[in-house]
Amino acid sequence: MSRAGAELSILFSPGCVQLLQEEVLVQGPKVLVTGATGLLGRAVCREFQAGGWTVVGTGYRRARPRFLYCDLTDEDGVRRLLHQFKPDLIVHCAAERRPDVVERLADATVQLNVNATGTLAKEAALCGALLLYISTDYVFDGRNPPYGEDDAPNPLNMYGRSKLEGEREVLRHCPGSVILRVPVLFGEVESVAESAVTSLWLKVQEGTEDSCLLDHCYQRFPTDTRDVAAVCRKLAERAKQPPPSVYLQDPSIRGIFHFSGKEQMTKYEMAVAMAQAFNLPSNHLIPLTEQPAGSAPRPINCQLNCSRLELLNLSVQPKPFMSAITDCLWPFTPDKRWRQTVFH
Ligand code: NAP
Repeated sequence: MSRAGAELSILFSPGCVQLLQEEVLVQGPKVLVTGATGLLGRAVCREFQAGGWTVVGTGYRRARPRFLYCDLTDEDGVRRLLHQFKPDLIVHCAAERRPDVVERLADATVQLNVNATGTLAKEAALCGALLLYISTDYVFDGRNPPYGEDDAPNPLNMYGRSKLEGEREVLRHCPGSVILRVPVLFGEVESVAESAVTSLWLKVQEGTEDSCLLDHCYQRFPTDTRDVAAVCRKLAERAKQPPPSVYLQDPSIRGIFHFSGKEQMTKYEMAVAMAQAFNLPSNHLIPLTEQPAGSAPRPINCQLNCSRLELLNLSVQPKPFMSAITDCLWPFTPDKRWRQTVFH
């Protein structure tokens, strides 16, 4: 067991400010999780902590008090952070991932999704850290599913383009990196609006008072952040087999991987499943089969072929949607007994 207190109790300058005053006892490998305040980053931090890793998570607006504040668009701050913490692994979750926001904030998105990813990749290469970059099924146009890792990307919107550019930055500056593409995510949320999946709960709960139109056109594969986090840890632990003193990378664990839930559902079908899970009425939910106008274009069906992970025995069996979504939504039900009575 070694002490990392000296490394961690450094006052970073204003670009990346955080003082970690308590001594941290380092056991096992170290992982830096960007976007640790976000939907996926929280699950990734929990998964690696449970696996005995020393975890430092960074956040931005929601960083304090639990996480390091780091603006990833501040190159010097990122450099200092990596040189001081010296992670074995970086799981890069931070991104602007809301397609309609990306269309409005194009420059800021490029700064975060592309340029900051490039900076992290350069610094990961310099530090010898393995970089695991989280990407998206939106790099594909959705016209010819399922998509393998080698299929040609053709993003339809700026969000997909920015994530694809991020992938290219990663491979250009740090060729040994791992890219994990995932579809729409749900998980433990701070508010139901935090994920496109759990936000459907608001429509389900409207009950029979008003009818609700819900998309029944785009085919999605909702995926639990806990499953993605478990895959991240499997990839990291297989990639970096620890011989006695140094970490060497397994060369078969590099490049692009796909992971996805297996249940194909439209938003309408997800909402009906939520209503069923909680014995609520669903006859007010109306399927809408026309593509909505006015929002950023989205692919119809980006089903991911996940066989590369499966062949390497690095996948996990995705949790069934009904039970996984119940885990996420019970805190937002008036009757918390669901926790004990549904699917447990
Ligand atoms: P999220 O919940 O929106 O979290 C975004 C994270 O980025 C937050 O932790 C945020 O920090 C951080 N961040 C924003 N601006 C930053 C900056 N300038 N410097 C440092 N950090 C900054 O995202 P998510 O849903 O967890 O997504 C994780 C990854 O999965 C992303 O790469 C995304 O592209 C990919 N993905 C997500 C989905 C999905 O459905 N959610 C689907 C496919 C792929 P604060 O909150 O503290 O400001």
